Amino acid sequence: MLSTSQQRVILVTGANKGIGYEVVKKLANELPLNNNLILLGCRDLKRGEDALIRLGSPPNVHLLHLDVSLRESITHATNKIKCEYGGQLDIIINNAAIGELELTVDIARTMFTTNYYGIKTLNEHLFPFIRENGRVINVASISGSILLSEASKDLQEKYLSSTLTTEQLDCLVEDFISAIEINSFEALGYNPKSSYLIYSVTKAAVIALTRIEARQWSGSKNVLVLSVCPGFCATDLNRNAPGARPAELGADSILHVVNAPQNELKNGCFYRDGQQLPQVYMIDDKN
Ligand code: NDP
Repeated sequence: MLSTSQQRVILVTGANKGIGYEVVKKLANELPLNNNLILLGCRDLKRGEDALIRLGSPPNVHLLHLDVSLRESITHATNKIKCEYGGQLDIIINNAAIGELELTVDIARTMFTTNYYGIKTLNEHLFPFIRENGRVINVASISGSILLSEASKDLQEKYLSSTLTTEQLDCLVEDFISAIEINSFEALGYNPKSSYLIYSVTKAAVIALTRIEARQWSGSKNVLVLSVCPGFCATDLNRNAPGARPAELGADSILHVVNAPQNELKNGCFYRDGQQLPQVYMIDDKN
């Protein structure tokens, strides 16, 4: 068995099922075998153990109990990575997310706590562990950039500003959550007819957060921070939507940004299936 100083140490959050599970499965079998040490993040240990059994309990996959919506859980997982893995990480894949359709403040709070604040807080905790040439990969969705294409020019400019800070992005997010109570999205520049409104705003925020983190951490340890869309895949998130592609292909989309050579990727950018995507995506865009 290789030591963590020789292996690529990779954390995948929300990896007990769906696309995250497929990412772990592929990473565990990448050649040379045992080159990757994968931390399979799960918010429920039993579901994590079941996933490990389904994988055949490979020696290079370890469970990490991690609920990204809970600060204590993030702190606990951070300490575990420090004590048991020498505080060494090469790649963080922020895959965990939830999707609810109901438009209420409570649902929005829960979704942002996982899909946006969870990534932001986890990255703040774990970035110091990332080794030279490491990568931080935030799983977003094209629905975030379609949402921006349907928003007002003024709102687009706020999300796309090259000087946007995390504090300003938090304010955009909080204004959106408050607007749900009084149904005033339009006044903020959102199109209330945008599909999966709350989910899509969480993903627009993740794409913007990725650009900010890339800027903040650029030059440090030669790390790349990227966002990626796995494409529309049949998983529990969408009740296994008929016609959607298999989760394995979503995993390939994520693995492209994990494994592509550094000079083929642009820090802070958004990718799907190996192609860079615009941050504002018009539905009839061909790429
Ligand atoms: P699934 O619902 O199949 O899996 C989501 C995973 O996230 C589960 O393991 C779930 O754990 C975990 N999770 C949820 N909340 C938390 C939390 N608070 N802390 C830790 N883990 C959590 O979804 P997908 O596999 O489809 O989605 C994976 C990623 O891909 C998500 O970021 C999603 O937004 C994105 N995506 C998916 C698309 C699709 O078509 N499927 C399209 C575009 C983007 P548990 O089993 O305990 O619930």
